[in-house]
Amino acid sequence: MAGSGGAQGQQAESAVGEAASDAAVTDPFELPGTPDAFGRLWTPHRMAYVKGGQNQYTDKDCPFCAAPGRSDEESLIVHRGRTCYAILNLFPYNPGHLLVCPYRHVADYTDITAEETAEMAQIAQTAMRVIREVSRPHGFNLGINQGDAGGAGIAAHLHQHVVPRWGGDANFLPIIAQTKQITQTLDETRRLLAEAWPGEGTAAGAQ
Ligand SMILES: [Zn+2]
Repeated sequence: MAGSGGAQGQQAESAVGEAASDAAVTDPFELPGTPDAFGRLWTPHRMAYVKGGQNQYTDKDCPFCAAPGRSDEESLIVHRGRTCYAILNLFPYNPGHLLVCPYRHVADYTDITAEETAEMAQIAQTAMRVIREVSRPHGFNLGINQGDAGGAGIAAHLHQHVVPRWGGDANFLPIIAQTKQITQTLDETRRLLAEAWPGEGTAAGAQ
């Protein structure tokens, strides 16, 4: 992203400023807690599938195993690689929040091959570049939650989150998450990212 360093530098500065002011806010209920520089994303809508527990996902009805069997549009798949693919999160923390996972139904990061590890990293890097080009986020969260205790929504099938972040984005998330436009938004987001993905002529090339 040569040439845009000035604007991005300013955005980064304002994001740091907002994080600092967040830390200074006093909880109105005066509940215990130690302020820090991290923003908090409250996502009560995720309870719908967190409450169902991991038993709802076996390798027979695992959403990550099922998704590649449908069209990119139906499954919200952004990119299909050789061993791994990128798919939009149906429960996004932010617009453009996508997941990178191997096609194989494996649970743990230590279970994947060297080739899968390399492609998973490469797809995450390309996803960042594509999201930057499409929606100019101020930052990203990249992460793999391992196991129930690690906070994985679907612990049985390894997936890496790529979450674009904007300064103060947590403030309007509940509005986005509850709007009825969410399906249309995901569909539009998928199309924008898939079209910007380097080396992809059309969605047909991903079949
Ligand atoms: Zn699976």
